[in-house]
Amino acid sequence: MSCLFCRIIAGEIPASKVYEDEHLVAFNDINPQAPMHVLIVPRVHVATLNDLVKEHSPVIGEMVRRGAAIAAERGYAERGYRAVFNCNQDGGQSVFHVHLHVLAGRSLHWPPG
Ligand code: 5GP
Ligand code: ZN
Repeated sequence: MSCLFCRIIAGEIPASKVYEDEHLVAFNDINPQAPMHVLIVPRVHVATLNDLVKEHSPVIGEMVRRGAAIAAERGYAERGYRAVFNCNQDGGQSVFHVHLHVLAGRSLHWPPG
C-alpha cells in the first residue's frame, strides 16, 4: 500500500486522530496552517475530486458534516472556519487521497494565495 493516507487509516503510520467511524477518519495535519487544522478522509481510496462517482456522495457529505461538527465542538462555529479540498497541481494537492482540510482559529485570507 503506497498511499500515505491509506497507511494512516490502516494504522501503519501514526497520526493524531480526532475522530473515526466506519466510513471516515479525521486527524490533525502534521504541518498545521492554523490553530486548528484537521484533515478528514474517506476510508475508501479516491485519488482526487476528479475521481468521485455517485457512490461517493454519502461519504463526502459525511466528511463535510463532520468537519462542521469538529469546528463547532471546539467553539469555532460562530466566528467561522474554512473547509477546503485541493485538487491536482493548480489546486495545491500533494497527497493523492481525497481529503477535506478544516482550518480555524485565525482570520483566513481570501482570495487564497
Ligand atoms: P494537500 O496539499 O494534498 O491538499 O494536503 C496534504 C496535507 O497533508 C498537507 O497539509 C500536509 O501537511 C499533510 N500531511 C502530509 N503528510 C502528512 C503526515 O504524514 N501526517 C499528517 N498528519 N499530515 C500529513
Ligand atoms: Zn489512499
